[in-house]
Amino acid sequence: MATKTIFKRIIDKEIPAQLVYEDDRCLAFRDVNPQAPVHVLVIPRQEIQSLAHAADGDAPLLGHLLSAVRTVAKKLDLAQGYRVVINCGPDGGQTVDHLHLHVLGGRRLEWPPG
Ligand code: 5GP
Repeated sequence: MATKTIFKRIIDKEIPAQLVYEDDRCLAFRDVNPQAPVHVLVIPRQEIQSLAHAADGDAPLLGHLLSAVRTVAKKLDLAQGYRVVINCGPDGGQTVDHLHLHVLGGRRLEWPPG
């Protein structure tokens, strides 16, 4: 059996996380190594390795994840704006093989990213 990713272990409550939001399809929790005053990860409960591994039929779920980002942004008072990042694959800098959306805010962010 394949080893569980760290995010699957968070979903299964095997390891703790600072939850910000959850529903039947996703959860959002604080990144353990924050890159901004607010750094939250939104992940689907469904195990999808990366955005590239999502199927066309996952489009409603992908939309739901973006809706969850908006909910998180409202909840955490990111009225001045925020950034949503999906790292995909090795060149995209993805380190955890479970689709996740980074929500970064609470300071003025630089552009372009490295
Ligand atoms: P990636 O580089 O794959 O886009 O992002 C993975 C993110 O997961 C990183 O920002 C990293 O800090 C975060 N992360 C890795 N392990 C854990 C963990 O055990 N708990 C939490 N809350 N975040 C984690």
